[in-house]
Amino acid sequence: MEFPIDRVRDDTPGVANVAHFNNAGSSLPPSVVVEATVGHIHREAAIGGYEAAAEASERVDAVYTSLAKLIGASAREIAVVENATRAWDMAVYGFAFKPGDRVLTGRSEYSSNVIALLQLKATRGIEVVLIDDDEHGQIDLAGLETELAKGATMVSLTHIPTSGGLVNPAAEVGQLCRAHDVCFVLDACQSIGQMPLDVDTLCCDVLSATGRKYLRGPRGTGFLYVREEWISRITPPLLDNHAATWTGPDSFEIRADAKRFENWETNYAGKLGLGAAADYAMELGLAHTWPRVQQLAQEMRSRLAEINGLRVVDKGRVKSGIVTFYSEAEATGSLQKRLSEAGVNSSISTGAGSVFDLGARGITNVIRASAHYFNTRAEIDRLIEALNN
Ligand SMILES: *Cc1c(COP(=O)(O)O)cnc(C)c1O
Repeated sequence: MEFPIDRVRDDTPGVANVAHFNNAGSSLPPSVVVEATVGHIHREAAIGGYEAAAEASERVDAVYTSLAKLIGASAREIAVVENATRAWDMAVYGFAFKPGDRVLTGRSEYSSNVIALLQLKATRGIEVVLIDDDEHGQIDLAGLETELAKGATMVSLTHIPTSGGLVNPAAEVGQLCRAHDVCFVLDACQSIGQMPLDVDTLCCDVLSATGRKYLRGPRGTGFLYVREEWISRITPPLLDNHAATWTGPDSFEIRADAKRFENWETNYAGKLGLGAAADYAMELGLAHTWPRVQQLAQEMRSRLAEINGLRVVDKGRVKSGIVTFYSEAEATGSLQKRLSEAGVNSSISTGAGSVFDLGARGITNVIRASAHYFNTRAEIDRLIEALNN
């Protein structure tokens, strides 16, 4: 089936203004997302915020069903929060760690997750063990298995790193965790909306995701999945009158579903926009959009590699829509400025923000050009031309 490129571009007003290769930062939303979000803000202004929420209550409930469907979960296992970091935090800080518990992680781990793990090391005495990469640059499954055999409590893996084109073998990691009865926490921030995800195939117990990146939802939205059997075993580090009920002068009861990880006041407009983004992604079908994302990125990589002095630094056997490169002759900031002047959006990833990966490879910074399915070959031409000038 031919990819409906005209339709997806018609659905995306922003493509008229920019060649957007910052989809790993914050993508251009489709109109349905904007309408769901802005429409709700208008209802709040027209009839009142609580009244608008009551009017939209069925649509708000449907957001959970949509997010669950997107990852093969059930709605009870979903919490909608303000971003992926807080989603991940609510589960990991809530985990019943004992001093000496070993948490295994990889070189792609997102900086905020590493900072949180290091804080848990300082405050709760966990041990953080770094699993090295294999020869392809993905997490080394044999090394992981060796460390799992020594005993571990949790594996925390970033599926697709923020600063490179790698796709980690998450399902294989999940199977190893399952075999060793270890909790598997997957940071799916860059993979959600980019590739098909199914929590049973991935064997993950916790999954965190954001709205604004490849899923094309509004900023300030994210969600958490916690597998049913883990919900009651993870105590949210913060509770309020939405996550728990005040049952007597001296008692409270935490709710039984994943909404225990949420808090009461929330951005309803954003939540509705997030649901619309999930529905839109499923309507196009991740099985159709993912190969196109990979194709465009691969094409960008081969054309960038032809430019004198440019180094494409993506690693991994399976690659995503994220393309990273630097120039041996020109500062990264100056490259980005040229792209920006040509109407091409990109971002910069730094070695300092990726100590285990870019930092360890001695790379100070790279341009990150992240392709989505709505990008075109003509836009890649524009990016290449701007760099060639
Ligand atoms: C962006 C990102 C995050 C953080 O997501 P927020 O929604 O900004 O909290 C976490 N992990 C990865 C891999 C990311 O790229």
